Amino acid sequence: MLDFNHRLSFSEAIMKRIDLALDAENKLKPKRNYLGASRLGASCDRALQYEYSNTPKDPGRDFLGTTLRNFDAGHVFEDLMVRWLKMAGFELLTHSSDGDQFGFETLDGKIQGHIDGVIVNAPSQFDFSFPMLWECKSKANKVWRQIKNQGVEIVDPVYAAQMPLYQAYLEPQFPGISSNPALFTAINKETAEIHFELVAFNGALAQQRSDRGVRIIEACEAGELQPRMTKTDTHYECRICPWQDRCWERVPR
Ligand code: SF4
Repeated sequence: MLDFNHRLSFSEAIMKRIDLALDAENKLKPKRNYLGASRLGASCDRALQYEYSNTPKDPGRDFLGTTLRNFDAGHVFEDLMVRWLKMAGFELLTHSSDGDQFGFETLDGKIQGHIDGVIVNAPSQFDFSFPMLWECKSKANKVWRQIKNQGVEIVDPVYAAQMPLYQAYLEPQFPGISSNPALFTAINKETAEIHFELVAFNGALAQQRSDRGVRIIEACEAGELQPRMTKTDTHYECRICPWQDRCWERVPR
């Protein structure tokens, strides 16, 4: 028999209350008025334009509760990793003396980046050089294994671009940071396994992505829409893009 009157179980009802609270909290956050350097490795120029200009998302395409819960969980994993690294003898700076996350801004603040941390010392057995950019991500098992097996630069172009950009722009604050490899850390959210990887500075990629950021901002300021990244709206990136209807001039679903 069809159930046209589905009542939420108590578990679903609790989760719904949590998600509504997270959604309300998220809507109260001030909107970014800059282009995040961490996004400059993303595939689509036009999507970055929508992001930078705070273009309203298509109806019903705001972050789902699952996504917001995942964001929160990511912060918890990162805090755990800071604790674990410090316990293992690493000296890791994550915030300045006034409590702010380390970061940078350029182009009159129109491009900004905030980093997970800088390692300034570690047990001598590792023969690391300092300062060393530290980036930490928590991933589901499938992606975590891909990163472990193939390396972050192959698996994730967004992270691959993020690290050299941060190194280049943080050089004035942490002299030498762009001469030393970054320590990329990925935690498996399902098994708590940890993958560490040294990523050498890629100056050409940093320059290319920085130029891209400038080009996107200039296009926004000139009111010019950048080309789509693909010829079909069924491309997998478009299917998850919150501006899919707007971009392809479709009737909202
Ligand atoms: S729908 Fe596709 S082409 Fe359009 S902005 Fe989004 S990702 Fe880019």
